[in-house]
Amino acid sequence: MRYGGPKAALFYAIVRKNYGATHYIVGRDQAGVGKFYSPYACHEIFDQYNIGTIPLRYVETFYCKVCESMATEKTCPHPLEDHIAISQTRMRELLKEGKDLPTEILRPEVIKVLSQGDVILTE
Ligand SMILES: [Zn+2]
Repeated sequence: MRYGGPKAALFYAIVRKNYGATHYIVGRDQAGVGKFYSPYACHEIFDQYNIGTIPLRYVETFYCKVCESMATEKTCPHPLEDHIAISQTRMRELLKEGKDLPTEILRPEVIKVLSQGDVILTE
């Protein structure tokens, strides 16, 4: 991970294209650091450059207490107070602090494996 924001996302897409990929998943705040780039800057750079792959733009996901499932702003009409969202950074912090992870977002089996510390957590 180079944390170069949109240009890094474009670089990763080009590398994957060179290995034969036809599509590239672009996440929310991909390759970003803190709040240096807007959360969807990586989505927008694919409007400026056509590198020959199809960008699949993924938006933020969260757990909705009303829908009782993971959702996005496209799939859930409920207000923010019904949402449980947690960043990967916050999950890493909770793990390091030995605190509980939200079972609405991660299955207990996954939490158990992560809590054992056998998994390398990357930034
Ligand atoms: Zn909902």
